[in-house]
Amino acid sequence: MINIAATNASNRIVSKHDFAEIIENTVTQQKSLHATVHFNPGEIICSFSADQVFAEPNYLTIQTGIQQHITLMPHFLQYTNHSCSPNVFFDTHSMELIALKDIEPNEEFTFFYPSTELEMAQPFICFCGSKDCLQNIKGAQHIPFDTLKNYRLTRFIEEQLQKPS
Ligand SMILES: [Zn+2]
Repeated sequence: MINIAATNASNRIVSKHDFAEIIENTVTQQKSLHATVHFNPGEIICSFSADQVFAEPNYLTIQTGIQQHITLMPHFLQYTNHSCSPNVFFDTHSMELIALKDIEPNEEFTFFYPSTELEMAQPFICFCGSKDCLQNIKGAQHIPFDTLKNYRLTRFIEEQLQKPS
């Protein structure tokens, strides 16, 4: 049985930023990004830019084009984990991080990795706990259209999916 109090006590704050803090679970060493202020649905949380640009994806990059994968500036945004029920969206056209839902202080920021990734560098099995969890996260091109239409996707991903293959 999991002791909730003990679980909470195993979290430590790694660093604090403008509107967020990085939390580390000292048991799993998994890091995550949490809000420190409230955001409304549709609100622009911050602008971001490319730190480095790569031709191939890696576990830190988000996709902005064909053979164009960026690491994020500010750097702390890289700790935004995946969820199949995300509360933020990386708009790689406007280069803005946008709230999809009400986000309360302490709540973890999550985004839907296939909303930016056509083909993921490191596919994984998701345990996000959402009732709509897709389980196998491999990239947008592996997800049926009926499922994808429930998600906000970047302009790049939408353009790629509309291309006849
Ligand atoms: Zn999931």
